[in-house]
Amino acid sequence: SGNDSIRSKVKETLRLFYGACRKILQEQEALPKDKKKKGLRVDFEAAKILKSKGKCHNEGVQIMGPVPGVEVGDEFQYRMEMNVLGVHRPTQGGIDYMKVGEDILATSIVASGGYDDELDNSDILTYTGQGGNIVQAKKKGEELKEPEDQKLKQGNLALVNSVTKKNPVRVIRGKNHATLESSGRDAKNGGYIYDGLYLVEEFWQETGSHGKLVFKFKLRRMPGQPELSWKVVKKSKKLKYREGLCKLDISEGRERLPISAINEIDDEKPPQFTYTVKMTYPDWCRPVPPKACGCPTRCTEARNCSCVAKNGGEIPYNYDGAVVSAKTLIYECGPFCKCPASCYLRVTQRGIKFKLEIFKTESRGWGVRSLNSIPSGSFICEYIGELVEDAEAEKRTSNDEYLFDIGNKYDNSLAEGMSELMPGTKAGPSIEEESGFTIDAAIKGNVGRFINHSCSPNLYAQNVLYDHGDTRMPHVMFFAMDNIPPLQELSYHYNYMLDQVRDSKGNIKKKICYCGSSGCIGRLY
Ligand code: SAM
Repeated sequence: SGNDSIRSKVKETLRLFYGACRKILQEQEALPKDKKKKGLRVDFEAAKILKSKGKCHNEGVQIMGPVPGVEVGDEFQYRMEMNVLGVHRPTQGGIDYMKVGEDILATSIVASGGYDDELDNSDILTYTGQGGNIVQAKKKGEELKEPEDQKLKQGNLALVNSVTKKNPVRVIRGKNHATLESSGRDAKNGGYIYDGLYLVEEFWQETGSHGKLVFKFKLRRMPGQPELSWKVVKKSKKLKYREGLCKLDISEGRERLPISAINEIDDEKPPQFTYTVKMTYPDWCRPVPPKACGCPTRCTEARNCSCVAKNGGEIPYNYDGAVVSAKTLIYECGPFCKCPASCYLRVTQRGIKFKLEIFKTESRGWGVRSLNSIPSGSFICEYIGELVEDAEAEKRTSNDEYLFDIGNKYDNSLAEGMSELMPGTKAGPSIEEESGFTIDAAIKGNVGRFINHSCSPNLYAQNVLYDHGDTRMPHVMFFAMDNIPPLQELSYHYNYMLDQVRDSKGNIKKKICYCGSSGCIGRLY
């Protein structure tokens, strides 16, 4: 439907935006210390590029109420994305408003202070007006301004008018400690969550701690909107007993973080299999460690690092571990490289950093989700199993649910969009390359074996080499394509071709897809 296609448009805009942010950051990180641009705002630069190419979604458009394509619970990393999408236009101001008839009315607010209310009562938000020099950062050579009474103008006036007009106001919350556990990435910018629509119920003035008058607004969340997932997570933590918990750690201590199994659907227990964190290779196959680099500290572009050179002279990750863009193959540093474990060219080999769990879905068996927010570009987990030759995999037709056919089958459309935005970002080949190998996770595997297919996925599979150099059998590593809120199911595109999967008698097999996404084509194969 129309709504669905608007949602895809929003997602595409955000993917391009983050792609551009990561590319700009990568270029900046590659510069020697004295050449780095001081105070560079990657989000501003990325927005500039998107705007110049007409790739923004609702840029500059004033919208009252819901923004088409943006859903309650959506997470943003910077204020700039909300500007690009028309969710909240000012990149600093906390209140956005528009003229309606003779009045100005509030359209959105950013509440950076987070939630100070008790959780049970968190439909109510008390918001402090703007102005009066309350919040100010001391800039070099500048005197701090004297605080003064807040004035009934602009944003404050708009919020006051919204009390009588009873118009919906979008609320965006800045994430802080209450809303977010470390997401495994840069914690200083916790990001933002779209919290939904509120009504401004009342306002008053009071004397602030600095002795001057401030405006206070009481907003109440409009009923009938989905509950925010971080709240669900937080509530469940308060309970000693987690609803539907059937296993505390399916990895039985083999992963750094335990992976629970949750079933709130029926009484099925998680399936039996052997949890492993390392690939199993056939006897005839002895993967040989790749040539090591001799870098004494973390590898950089500036240094003559042989591992960086294998990646076309650039580090394919940002220094916070985000993958810059999808590539045919990423080479990480290996076990015999001299660089430390904290090297920027070692990301996927460090393992899972989000609190994942498996959960029983309504119609897709077990699936995987995270209790943390996942920023776009983050590494999630590997697809671990037993490496078999394709010919052997084809014999396993009676138990083919956990086969992953290695190849270069990633969706190239984002890379193409990126190379259009920023010359110098090369799109990988879009041809399908078969490697001749398949990973079977039926008997031995890790959490990756539980990730379901979606026609509109939030992860993609990236080929990575680090502990051996055989390009026919790279590791398969999943990365996030979007910011993924807690409890949202993780999925990737299985890339089956319709009518190509056959049973042992050679008959075409069909499988109905229950991904439930907007772009669902109805079949897995
Ligand atoms: N759901 C699986 C389980 O419970 O173990 C984990 C994923 S496993 C790699 C692949 C199988 O999951 C598929 O063969 C199919 O049975 C099911 N599955 C995955 N995605 C699906 C989807 N979108 N619709 C229906 N079934 C799906």
